[in-house]
Amino acid sequence: MSTFQSINPYNQETIAEYAAHTQADIQQRLAWGHQAFRHMAHTSLQERCDWMLALAQLLKTNVDQHAAIITREMGKTLKEAKAEVLKCATTAEYYVEHIAEMLQPKLISTDAQQSYVSYEPKGIILAIMPWNFPYWQVFRFAIPNLLAGNSGLLKHASNVSGCALAMEDVFLQAGFPEGAFQALLVNSKHIEPVIADSRVQGVTLTGSTAAGMSVGALAGKYIKKSVLELGGSDPFIVLKDANLEEAARTAVKARMQNAGQSCIAAKRWIVEEAVAEDFTDKVSRILREMKQGDPFNAATDMGPMARPDLAGELAQQLQQSINQGARLELGGQQESANFAPTLLTNVQKGMTAFDEETFGPLAVITRARNEEQAIELANQTPFGLGSSLWTSDLDKAKKLARQIDSGNVFINAMVRSDARLPFGGVKLSGYGRELSLEGTHEFLNVKTVYIA
Ligand code: NAP
Repeated sequence: MSTFQSINPYNQETIAEYAAHTQADIQQRLAWGHQAFRHMAHTSLQERCDWMLALAQLLKTNVDQHAAIITREMGKTLKEAKAEVLKCATTAEYYVEHIAEMLQPKLISTDAQQSYVSYEPKGIILAIMPWNFPYWQVFRFAIPNLLAGNSGLLKHASNVSGCALAMEDVFLQAGFPEGAFQALLVNSKHIEPVIADSRVQGVTLTGSTAAGMSVGALAGKYIKKSVLELGGSDPFIVLKDANLEEAARTAVKARMQNAGQSCIAAKRWIVEEAVAEDFTDKVSRILREMKQGDPFNAATDMGPMARPDLAGELAQQLQQSINQGARLELGGQQESANFAPTLLTNVQKGMTAFDEETFGPLAVITRARNEEQAIELANQTPFGLGSSLWTSDLDKAKKLARQIDSGNVFINAMVRSDARLPFGGVKLSGYGRELSLEGTHEFLNVKTVYIA
């Protein structure tokens, strides 16, 4: 029988082993998920909001236990894990407050006596999720969908099964009907029959572009709506009139949080020539002060990466970039899953660290002659998830923001996902949106009603 192992990346100890679900288990979960969807169709929005508020409270009350599960399974620091769990709780509260207006039928005047658009749930939505924000990625999909009346089936990344089961449990404890939110412990090889099943009415994937190509193709094959939240290589553009101190501090945070394993991490720092040296000095100083170590220790700024093989891949990308002419300013050491905060300068298009997504604590600086070239460099990537632009001229910033090919542009701030704002990408970073009105409507039947 196949199993999923959870291994603590800091010390490589096996935490737990979980038996994969059998074909019969999968069928049972699909039946429960469908039953829960039918059941929720007869509940009021108020009832679902009450369950969601109970869920938010449970997350807050048990934040320490949930955070410890995250830190043990994927290595982020305990303080980052706590912040992640609390963000899920406040997002649940936000949607309880705003879901009624998001689901409000929209009256449209036509030649009918009355015509309107009604937003209605469709069934089970399959969520295929990554390990890097193992709670947040899941809740940002699940909160609006379960409030709207869909049920959720989670195929989580195979190294975070403990997180998946803990989340399933918290939905049940909060009062949601059995089957409303379930974890499916299956290998991605066995996902096609689940996508094909008629009770599954949509699939959302957060993960790599390769996984997106495969899941998007299956969704197309079975005519299922899909949302793809994929990789990124976000530019962090620093123009010569930026507040350099603030930009440097934020650049390090935006690249190094979660040990650099974030889709919207600032993966390419593009800095105007005139301030490049000063910026390099400032970020080097901050990077040297970062404390790496045991993620459970409150003094630790950065834990290990989630798996040794991921750290090994990053080491290869680093070595290739050095061979191609990039200069190693600091860091570069890798041992098992631990990868030191690293800075490369003299990085140019054509080098691995510029052309590919780097998913770990590797910061790179590319110099731009002027702002036109900075924008050109920013767009020289197959990805288009987020981007951050630093300048003190806000009129110029708004003009330049339109020229950047990405789903998000944050001016004088780091990119982050926020319950109130739509989140998603363009180009190989995927399609569709999560969160806000746009995200909430993705998996609903946008039904036209016309009364003659
Ligand atoms: P991944 O290898 O693509 O895995 C993500 C999820 O997809 C896992 O549950 C994985 O299952 C599953 N999966 C992989 N290949 C699949 C396939 N062919 N069919 C069906 N499911 C498949 O990505 P990761 O390494 O966990 O996460 C890192 C990537 O996610 C990065 O590229 C990052 O930028 C991206 N990401 C994007 C966002 C966003 O919002 N845009 C957010 C976070 C991360 P297994 O574990 O069983 O393989």
